[in-house]
Amino acid sequence: MSIDLSTPPVPISFEVYPPRSDAGVAALHETIRHLASVDPRFISVTYGAGGSTGGRSLELLTHILRETHVEPLAHLTCVGNTYAGANTLIREFLDAGITSFLALRGDPPAGASEDDAFLGDLGSAAELVQLIDRVQAEREPYTEALIPGVPGAVRVEKRARVDIAVAAFPNGHPRSRHAFEDIDALLAKQAAGATLAITQLFFHADDYLAFVARSREAGVTIPILPGIMPITSGARLRRVLELTGEALPADLAIALDVEPTVEGQRDIGIAHAARLAGEVVDGGAPGIHLYAFNNHDTVLAVLREAGVLTTTTHLEKEAVR
Ligand code: FAD
Repeated sequence: MSIDLSTPPVPISFEVYPPRSDAGVAALHETIRHLASVDPRFISVTYGAGGSTGGRSLELLTHILRETHVEPLAHLTCVGNTYAGANTLIREFLDAGITSFLALRGDPPAGASEDDAFLGDLGSAAELVQLIDRVQAEREPYTEALIPGVPGAVRVEKRARVDIAVAAFPNGHPRSRHAFEDIDALLAKQAAGATLAITQLFFHADDYLAFVARSREAGVTIPILPGIMPITSGARLRRVLELTGEALPADLAIALDVEPTVEGQRDIGIAHAARLAGEVVDGGAPGIHLYAFNNHDTVLAVLREAGVLTTTTHLEKEAVR
């Protein structure tokens, strides 16, 4: 399988994170079943973020590979790894059948800062993109296809390239000193072999659309998928701003602040994300990538409200049988 963003309807994809304990596994598998039922182009699984371990990421990716028809996409980071260690890790994922990656630099671990030496041998996401490509080329330099009707004969074909996504920052990465640095970083990742970019969350469609326009002008040709996060409470908004360094979206913050009920706040978050999704698709986005927070109800509600999910899902069909 590989990632295909070219066929209608609007391609959708989701991000989940590995369960933090064994207790969360069954519920997450149920969420994956629901997410898979709407035919996303891929489901991505975070790595190292919020303390999740590589082992748990790979277990979840393997579950998606075995139990659904959806392409699993593995996040990998540069944090704390030697070349040899990163090489072994990438091989382990490829050996498990994972062929789509999101190559990230990663953030400093808790208690460390950007100035600390937390990275290891790989200094940026672009270097990790190159390494993934190289490891796959060494592991599988070519593929062999059987020739029908000629027993024992094979045709040597070019290897299928792995899909390598990278992160992009419509409102700038906290580390970049000016807006062009983010575009330069994206160009470097594209030159290293990235085939897709997924954006950090943003709160206004123009943030994304203007960033795509600037990127195209600078020579970025890979698809740039908008990453949309439904913000369903004031507490989640504060936490997300803390983690990403994004500026406070005053309109959304005020709406969440004045709404007293949990259900009301959730509706505001869904409506905001749905509006954003509709606007970026109208503006030419190649699909919608939703940060699911390991919950299917909210992101599926966003897609319905945005008019992207209009048909009955497989699970709903099963339920009425
Ligand atoms: P890079 O592209 O290497 O660089 C980040 C920024 O630093 C660039 O945009 C640029 O502004 C600047 N920069 C890069 N190179 C240079 C240079 N040579 N000189 C000066 N400045 C430079 N983190 C996790 O730990 N696990 C995850 O699973 C995870 N998933 C993510 C998914 C998405 C869609 C996104 C957007 C982020 C995710 N992150 C995750 C967070 C990510 O690791 C951090 O944002 C990290 O700080 C930057 O990663 P990057 O891959 O963009 O890094």
